Amino acid sequence: MSNHWPVTGHEWAVDHLGRAIQHDRMRHAYLFAGPDGIGKTTLARALAAAINCTGERPPCGQCRSCSLILKNAHPDVIIIEADQEGGNLKIDQVRELQQTLALRPYEARYRVAILRRFHEARPTTQDALLKTLEEPSANSVLILTTNTVEQLLPTILSRCQPLHLRPLPIETVRETLEWAYRAPQDIAKMLAQLSGGRIGWAIRAWQDPDELDQRHAALEMLESAIQGKRRDRFKLVEQIKLEKPQLLALLEIWQGYWRDVLLVAGGSHAPVTNYDHIEAIKRLAEQVDLDAAQQALTATRRTMDYLGKNVNARLALETLMLDYPTGKLI
Ligand SMILES: [Zn+2]
Repeated sequence: MSNHWPVTGHEWAVDHLGRAIQHDRMRHAYLFAGPDGIGKTTLARALAAAINCTGERPPCGQCRSCSLILKNAHPDVIIIEADQEGGNLKIDQVRELQQTLALRPYEARYRVAILRRFHEARPTTQDALLKTLEEPSANSVLILTTNTVEQLLPTILSRCQPLHLRPLPIETVRETLEWAYRAPQDIAKMLAQLSGGRIGWAIRAWQDPDELDQRHAALEMLESAIQGKRRDRFKLVEQIKLEKPQLLALLEIWQGYWRDVLLVAGGSHAPVTNYDHIEAIKRLAEQVDLDAAQQALTATRRTMDYLGKNVNARLALETLMLDYPTGKLI
């Protein structure tokens, strides 16, 4: 029914939202949760277009409202997030948003505010948003995106309708790269596999070769840490750039690697993400037990959560290094 939305995958979510619009059951606040790069903001933008579309089949993608929204140029659709330099979402950003939301939209039916990466907002900032969630204005819709719901206050969670988005099937990512982005077959296949279903990452990696270099460097670093002594590991930490976005991207890659080790150690036949490192992953899986691999995965995830809370990044990484098991990979 709603498969004409400009969204790849997440059919059930699109369906759910499409039905809510059709039956006039839209909520004032939504929470789109799921890993980086799976299309949370894309879905949020499509929802903003769908509720403001003036065409016949919302979102038509053609009307003035749709085209402005899909280009990020609509005055009534506001995207706010922490600045890229690793800051946090500021309380002032939330207050400014509240003032805007109190006014009538300029031209749209609904003013839509998309608050990205809300897990990075401190509790005081989250608290500041509560008032807006409790007393929403009739013409506004709030959409929060988050990588993890664990960082959010229960009061925020209880006032939003959550939609938990999952990584897409590898096949869907491959087809999208091939058909919509004109990637050659072999490259589309490789990137789809490496993406683990995170389509946003796959598209970035296709458009920007740096993304693959960064992945390569991150895996090299992890593998030397695993083979290194404590002192070597701390030396590696010294080389890591400590800006938050890069750091989270690095840990995301490490997390994928440990997930692979866990899969192989557990005897699963599911395909690994980092298939180009499969030999090292197999060797490691023989040397560490399931518990150790699970611990390394959990520790990586926990470190990502800590970084969201503005702890000392170097200290967090050093602690993480101590949680990683040792192994011989060659
Ligand atoms: Zn439209």
